Amino acid sequence: MDERSKLANDNTSEHTSDPANAFTIHPLNCGTIRNHERSGFLYRTDCGGGRINAPCIAWLLRSQNHTLLVDTGPGTRRHAARFYSDDDVNQEDLLRDELARLDINPSDLTHVILTHLHNDHVGGAPLLTNARFYVQEAELKEAVWPVPFQRPIYETNQRGKIPSWVEILDRMEVLEGDVEIVPGVRALLLPGHTAGSQGVLVNTAEGEFLIAGDLVPLYENWPGTESQAIPNGNHTDLRAYAASFKRLAALNATILPAHEPRVFDFKQYPSCRCL
Ligand SMILES: [Zn+2]
Repeated sequence: MDERSKLANDNTSEHTSDPANAFTIHPLNCGTIRNHERSGFLYRTDCGGGRINAPCIAWLLRSQNHTLLVDTGPGTRRHAARFYSDDDVNQEDLLRDELARLDINPSDLTHVILTHLHNDHVGGAPLLTNARFYVQEAELKEAVWPVPFQRPIYETNQRGKIPSWVEILDRMEVLEGDVEIVPGVRALLLPGHTAGSQGVLVNTAEGEFLIAGDLVPLYENWPGTESQAIPNGNHTDLRAYAASFKRLAALNATILPAHEPRVFDFKQYPSCRCL
């Protein structure tokens, strides 16, 4: 069975056809990687061609029965000051502010999927005091003992600093491979950027969307075909990356990138400018 029919088989249950399991996806702007060399996301393609302010995006998923969060941004100003704007001294916790905009109390969230454990994706996790956090086993191992050049981004072995992922260890649900989290939301193991990166396949009224994490930081990384795909400049394994791109090609999903400013052209997905 090829990948496409295997995934289709997994998902042709009553789950995806039931309108109760159709989600809307809301991007939340939880911080900014400022003045970032754009080619750093693009395997040095067009190196020196420009710099961008790249948002750190969390995603709120809502259906009739479930509310979930994917990723948490870098965390509070106190924890992650460099991701905050100098202009607005009133911003102390962007994740909290973004959830409040959607009338969500952080303590209401019970299911949080982490695409990986880099600090700009997991830093906000300690705010979510009642959540279980879904993480791939390979990613947890990587965070404990990363390759040396990734220690800072996991906040591992940084003297005097407790990594956010350590603060939530007792509430982690550790996954091995692809797992349905709730009907209509499925975690897919997609390594390459990190050893245990995962994407989140979300059923909507207009087909499936894939929240790709840093496998696809910008729209330009994934033009729709393997042959034209560009890896993130920050990665641990290019062979694994290529295999994950092959999986993307087999999906019939709309890809949502992790650090793409144009994501905020729409307030929610399936796309809508109305809220
Ligand atoms: Zn990352």
